[in-house]
Amino acid sequence: MNNKAIISVKNINKSYDAGINKLHVLKGIEFSVRQGEMVSIMGASGSGKSTLLNILGILDNYDSGEYHLNEVLMQNLSEKKAAYYRNQFIGFVFQSFNLISFKNAMENVALPLYYQKVGRRQRNKLALEYLDRMGLKDWANHMPNELSGGQKQRIAIARAMISKPKVILADEPTGALDSKTSQEVMDIFDDINNQGVTLIIVTHEHDIAMRTRRIVRLRDGVIEQDYIPQN
Ligand code: ADP
Ligand code: MG
Repeated sequence: MNNKAIISVKNINKSYDAGINKLHVLKGIEFSVRQGEMVSIMGASGSGKSTLLNILGILDNYDSGEYHLNEVLMQNLSEKKAAYYRNQFIGFVFQSFNLISFKNAMENVALPLYYQKVGRRQRNKLALEYLDRMGLKDWANHMPNELSGGQKQRIAIARAMISKPKVILADEPTGALDSKTSQEVMDIFDDINNQGVTLIIVTHEHDIAMRTRRIVRLRDGVIEQDYIPQN
């Protein structure tokens, strides 16, 4: 791990329109994450975890404050620029896997490379390599509905990894998995983190958070605690 902040957030505020009222969801969020860290974000449902993660992933804008990704200010970006920084730096993993149901495992993993205009032969070759790393090479031709939850999440992780992101953002990645499978997914995240990839994992499960090296607790849109878990 080095000392460079890959993610730096200063006084971020974000509101949603909710009829006449504004819903102030993030209220002056401030924290930074160094390259190679493995951080969990915890907090009750509705506390703003996904909103924050979507801002970090440049999927959503914020109203005020500053967000620097790799020391570049992420503000008022065109959709093209946002896509560029996402492709360059970020991999996403979601609770519901978000696989494309009519594409097989290999094609799902290869998808980011399709958007980067990598040729079919090369992207399928790389997809097989990443599937192999997840122990899923034999499942390359299977469709998502033929796979278990744990297998689907490993495919989603392979898809997130194939563009060699600096940061993986995972929103409740074990939320749909049983506890044994959840631990296996955390083993994979450990491996990925050991390769130097920064991980930010939203979870409301204590045992998942305890496997990360830092816990940031959100409460009603503010950071309530930021600490190193002791076990
Ligand atoms: P968490 O992930 O911690 O459960 P969210 O960030 O999803 O919380 O949501 C925080 C609050 O913002 C909730 O009250 C939610 O209903 C609201 N919210 C989230 N997304 C939107 C949206 N697109 N439009 C309006 N309100 C939203
Ligand atoms: Mg959420």
